[in-house]
Amino acid sequence: MAFRTNLTKVPLTVALFFLTGAIFSLDMRDEYEGATTWLLYFILAIPVAKLYSPRVLLFAISGWSLLIAVKLVQLSPTGHVGTSIFNRSIGMIILWTMAFLLYRQRSLGQLISEEEHRVTAILDGALDAVIAINAHSRITAWNPQAEKMFGFRREEAVGKLLPDLIIPPAFRDAHARGLQRFVETGEGPIMNRRIEVMALHRDGREFPVELSVMPLRSGRTVSFCAFVRDITARRELETTLRQAREVAESASQAKSDFVANISHEIRTPLNAICGTTELLLTTCLTPAQRRYAEMCLKASHTLLQLVTELLDFSRIESGRLQLELKPYDLRQLVERTIGLLSHRAEQKGLILSAHIEDDLPALIKGDAFRLQQVLLNLVSNALKFTSQGSVDITAFVVDKEPNCPRFRLSVTDSGIGIPPEDLERIFDRFTQVDSAASRQHGGVGLGLAICKRLIALMGGRIWAESSPGKGSTFIVDMPFSPVGDSDSPCAASPPMAAIGSAAPTASEPKGLAILIAEDSAESRELIHYWFEDTPHRVESVADGEQAVQRYRAGRYDLVLMDLQMPGMDGFSATRAIRAWETAQKREAVPIIALTANAFREAAEQGAAAGCTGILTKPIGRSLLLDTVARVGSRAVAPSVHAVPTPMQTRLPADTAQRITQQLADRRPQFLRNRRKDLIALREAAARGDYDTIGLLGHRIKGIAGSYGFPDMGTLGHHLEAAAKAADLPAVQAQLTQMAALLEQCDKAA
Ligand code: ADP
Repeated sequence: MAFRTNLTKVPLTVALFFLTGAIFSLDMRDEYEGATTWLLYFILAIPVAKLYSPRVLLFAISGWSLLIAVKLVQLSPTGHVGTSIFNRSIGMIILWTMAFLLYRQRSLGQLISEEEHRVTAILDGALDAVIAINAHSRITAWNPQAEKMFGFRREEAVGKLLPDLIIPPAFRDAHARGLQRFVETGEGPIMNRRIEVMALHRDGREFPVELSVMPLRSGRTVSFCAFVRDITARRELETTLRQAREVAESASQAKSDFVANISHEIRTPLNAICGTTELLLTTCLTPAQRRYAEMCLKASHTLLQLVTELLDFSRIESGRLQLELKPYDLRQLVERTIGLLSHRAEQKGLILSAHIEDDLPALIKGDAFRLQQVLLNLVSNALKFTSQGSVDITAFVVDKEPNCPRFRLSVTDSGIGIPPEDLERIFDRFTQVDSAASRQHGGVGLGLAICKRLIALMGGRIWAESSPGKGSTFIVDMPFSPVGDSDSPCAASPPMAAIGSAAPTASEPKGLAILIAEDSAESRELIHYWFEDTPHRVESVADGEQAVQRYRAGRYDLVLMDLQMPGMDGFSATRAIRAWETAQKREAVPIIALTANAFREAAEQGAAAGCTGILTKPIGRSLLLDTVARVGSRAVAPSVHAVPTPMQTRLPADTAQRITQQLADRRPQFLRNRRKDLIALREAAARGDYDTIGLLGHRIKGIAGSYGFPDMGTLGHHLEAAAKAADLPAVQAQLTQMAALLEQCDKAA
């Protein structure tokens, strides 16, 4: 192409040489020194500047200047030298000036056209359609992608009005208004940002495009350039993905619902299987029958745990798990966990201990129930995978930053440890390091997955540090909010599973009619005693059947229902009361379940039976009265919800002292009762009466803490567990310990 262009210039170049020669010979013949002859070089400079490169022009001008100078030398010194020098100097200056100007214009023009070519090449190669319009919406640029996208060729599009060509009729007015607004005010909401609009194809089809429009200002005029991308495929993909996600989500929701429902349904008969197998084990059985029944019980417990974990997991997965934010005492939580698992530690000869740093506030806010669930799981695992040594729980504040304080709770064991490559994996569902070992120990690999999700829901983090053979440490890092003055004083209580919506509010103490169903005379007496000096009227009965009868005959504002009672238990009594209320179209009164069993199942079964809330024994006076005030206020005056200040429920110092004193006065009687229990327990052990042992153990567990004998409470717990397992040696061991403990107490007294 360049070669051909050069060829066409050859005659022109030859002509220019001839013309130059002609002008030079004319100039040489000119005797007088007029300006006419060399002025012709100027005229020749114009086509040279237009047709040749700036370099050729410079070359030509230099040549002509030389020729002018030659003529100057040839002039006779006598002639018109002065005029000639002047004329020719002026001529040369003009020629060079002209050359400079022509050169510059030519260079600029060349630059501009080169630039234009480059821009056109870029736009033509762009993956997006590029369209430019002027301030009147006339198309000034249209690249090949625009041709493909809209179906109009460049020649057809350029010069046309943009709205007529590619904007669907429904949007043309908006386009005109937007353009006018921008021209007048310089503002436009769609300028310089990505927007998605509908565009029109030549065949009349409308399709979605993504575009970004840039205003281009040049002096007072403005034009616009738009990059347009067809997003039909993307939209279709998005729709398909959304539909697929909706289908997957609803399938996952249906699965979670199914698992949750089925787990719940399975648990009820499973509970019955566990219960009746336990009953069966208390009867006279041949050794083989006992072995089979024990195997059945063990398998039922494993299945129950699995179903409970599945239920929890599916609840968390489906986002149906509600966390509570209530004050609780982390120390009590840890102590309770130890109390629940110390028997298992003893059975394996392991030391289970806890150390809580003093810098942890007495009360913090959070979901104590779920945190205890996590801790129980971690400690159970530690006990499971440790054959000798110890399991230690520690808690301390890691970040005292007032805006976001955090504490760390860790469980360290001296067990088998975990290989480094499994440290993260074990938090995945159904993942176990050694499935053979886990089969031996039980469990399906859901516990840590639940812990991880629970802790994440609480805003914390959980991880494990371990190496094989050197034990493991599971660490929970949790943010916490310290309890402020405005928080309910029930803060001092162990976690109350507020089943339903027990708001942490209370009204002024009002006299309530309270019915207590509690089989232990000692507990009844203690509760009566707790209510002394209060405006409440309290009546008590010894079992569920009496509770239902008394409730139907009288008018009560609140019921305190022990869950484990011989004969009709608290669950059945609550169900019967609720059924009667429904039949009578009476409003449901709050029923607070009392239990010495801190397990989640108790809370859930209580809720299923119709209880309003649950209190875990041992129950202190202030916790009991606060709870009654809180729950009772809703029963008596549902609209009154004054937030109690700590003063409202805190006892005056002298009263508190009096109560402490009276409790101390009652301790000898408590110990006398335990001695009677010891005799009854020994007799029961002698005749293999695990029912009585379990019942007495359960009672001791529930009441001992209230009198300030936590060790006795733990002993009661172990007795109950040993009776449940029909483990006579364990029962005997506990009775020996009980005798020793009573002796110690006597000595201390
Ligand atoms: P499960 O205990 O029911 O199998 P988890 O999710 O609680 O399920 O634990 C998953 C696995 O992590 C366990 O099977 C075990 O392999 C490993 N693991 C958990 N805790 C410990 C521990 N303290 N020491 C050693 N291995 C542990």
